[in-house]
Amino acid sequence: MSISKTDFIRGMQCPKMLWLDAHRPELKVIPEETQKRLDRGNEFGDKAMAMFGPFEEMTAFIPGTKYLDKKKMVQNTRNAMRSGVENICEASFDHDGEFCAVDILHRVEDDVWELYEVKDSPEVRQELIEDAAYQAWVLNRCGIKLDGVFVVYHYDDEDDPFEPVDVTEEAIEFARVVDENIDRLKAVKDSKAEIMQKMGEQCSKPYGCWYCEYCEALARQSSLFD
Ligand code: SF4
Repeated sequence: MSISKTDFIRGMQCPKMLWLDAHRPELKVIPEETQKRLDRGNEFGDKAMAMFGPFEEMTAFIPGTKYLDKKKMVQNTRNAMRSGVENICEASFDHDGEFCAVDILHRVEDDVWELYEVKDSPEVRQELIEDAAYQAWVLNRCGIKLDGVFVVYHYDDEDDPFEPVDVTEEAIEFARVVDENIDRLKAVKDSKAEIMQKMGEQCSKPYGCWYCEYCEALARQSSLFD
């Protein structure tokens, strides 16, 4: 089974969360406020696509569905890189089942690029750096030459809200964490048996989990047998 950036980040927070995403996504309960925040984040990301000027977006869907056509996105990206596109949005890469779609891949030389991950956040937090770092790790595996890794956060300026922060050093350091965990998380996602995990701090940090109702019900059931 493949593992996307979202899978990796969510699996690092809690392996059960990754397993539920893959096998029981219908149990998810996304609070209204969270959904609104996600929608605002998508709008902010869409606006940021033009931060370096003209761009091409690689997003493609499997016809008649709302599911991403990842193979087509990877192929579109290869074509755009070859044909000299300067700014490639949702630039997609796959290496041995490890998939990512980079918010903005900005060409700085013929075959040298900068990676930009856009976040509707007022600051650059550690989890946002890790998000960009996983993508840099996949691109490195795909042989893409990166000159820099940046997180773009939401700066308090209506006219120019896109503020990039260079996180290249941190991304290089985090590559070791990806190396150490990628096979474990692939095995979690592939597992036929449900992953057991007690609730704890990971249920709200760094992100609120959408499976709390389910896990709380499981905990109540098991306490009946204590
Ligand atoms: S509620 Fe907690 S234990 Fe359950 S999947 Fe989410 S993070 Fe993991």
